[in-house]
Amino acid sequence: MGNDKVTGELSNPDVIVIGAGIAGVTAARTLMQQGVSVLVLEARDRIGGRAYTEQETFGVPYDHGCTWLHSADVNPLSPLIRDQAGYDIFDFGAREPIYFVRENQTGHQTGRRATAQEVIDIEKAEDALYDDLWAYDAVTHGDISIHDLRPPKNKWDALAQLRKGPFEAGVHSDRLSVIDYQTQYETGTEWMVPQGFAAGIFKTLGPVPVTLGVTVEKVDWQGPTIKVQTNQGTITCRAVVVTVPTEIIADETLKFLPALPADKMAAFHELPMAVLDKITLQFDPAFRSLVPDADTNEAYIEAPQGMNQIDSWHSHLLCPFGQAMSTMFVGGQLARDISADSQEAAKDFALSSLASVLGSDVKKLFRKGHATKWLADTFARGGYAYSNVGKNHLRETARRPVAERLFFAGEALHGKWATMAPGAYLTGQQAANEIIDVLLS
Ligand SMILES: Cc1cc2nc3c(=O)[nH]c(=O)nc-3n(C[C@H](O)[C@H](O)[C@H](O)COP(=O)(O)OP(=O)(O)OC[C@H]3O[C@@H](n4cnc5c(N)ncnc54)[C@H](O)[C@@H]3O)c2cc1C
Repeated sequence: MGNDKVTGELSNPDVIVIGAGIAGVTAARTLMQQGVSVLVLEARDRIGGRAYTEQETFGVPYDHGCTWLHSADVNPLSPLIRDQAGYDIFDFGAREPIYFVRENQTGHQTGRRATAQEVIDIEKAEDALYDDLWAYDAVTHGDISIHDLRPPKNKWDALAQLRKGPFEAGVHSDRLSVIDYQTQYETGTEWMVPQGFAAGIFKTLGPVPVTLGVTVEKVDWQGPTIKVQTNQGTITCRAVVVTVPTEIIADETLKFLPALPADKMAAFHELPMAVLDKITLQFDPAFRSLVPDADTNEAYIEAPQGMNQIDSWHSHLLCPFGQAMSTMFVGGQLARDISADSQEAAKDFALSSLASVLGSDVKKLFRKGHATKWLADTFARGGYAYSNVGKNHLRETARRPVAERLFFAGEALHGKWATMAPGAYLTGQQAANEIIDVLLS
């Protein structure tokens, strides 16, 4: 990663940024460029937060968190990664999904590739949900959940709901707001970054003064200077940028004295963390011959009987960038269950899902695996924040500064890029610019 070795002193800067994820590093960078003294305090022993690339696990770049440049043609991070970091871009939007379905043969259930007609049926269901999502007049009729907008009538509809729900949003579609969905960008251009999404971002954002291993416990803003209390002592400053995940504020793990205004706290409560995890497997090169046409394709597998039946379909990314690897995406309740299990159980789950359609040879070809555990991560609490139905407008309430001294940033607090890395980046910039207006005016 670009700047995880850079540390700052526990001195008393003008601005303290809490958290060295994309939002925090961006805020610090923007402030530094205007000559404002700033220090980022980060609880972990690395920067990046939910944006994290490492190579140690698999010997190739492995992103534990953000992976896709969604709506890449308008994504503000695209130029940072492609043009400024000089990283290669992989056009994922051009890849067709692969579908596997179940059928009963003489009482025995097998898995097979979907027929051409079944693929048409799957795409029709996907298009119908998409059309309904954009046609729904939420201003007139009020917000509803994506599930209630188009309750599934068959297994193709169920897959369409799962794609919008746990596979993409980390929560089932009965909790997802149609207005929140309509507010967000979706241009269809999707890029990936073989050298690592997070590595590319932090290479460009460059070094900022960060002190690692410092957990902020309380922000005391009663007096003329703000006292930031940490597990390593207290630091004073004139303004604070808070970038921690929503639940850390909602459950008061990070405390404020005096407490944040009631409407602001209520907003954080309406933006709970969804859960998305990746179970990544590395295989012998012969794995590629099991699905010869797979090269960075999503694969949707109708769940085999007997496996955890929370979701009727499973989602995998097969052979990313031509490698003999796969990543299973688990979201919502399934992710919560798997998160409570061991690494071994998670890997077995992903392997069994693949073996149910590719055959038991998959297990012989397996070499190494890793499951992320974002829910159990006390500094993340999950994947990203969704807004409860009818509460999308509270993303802005949660973002708004308090008393021109407490500023807020992070993926959850942006409208059009909510949940996504660019939301963290843009709110980080916005918070810094608001501080510059106050401090330099
Ligand atoms: C599995 C997964 C897949 C994803 N896929 C994509 C994707 O494909 N595309 C995309 O755009 N986005 C994706 N995202 C979302 C993206 O990673 C996030 O939106 C983004 O990284 C959030 O950045 P942030 O700065 O808001 O928060 P964070 O990265 O969470 O940063 C907050 C920082 O605060 C620190 N912290 C917490 N509490 C304290 C404390 N008390 N004191 C000090 N420090 C503290 C944390 O350690 C962390 O470093 C994905 C996320 C996950 C988990």
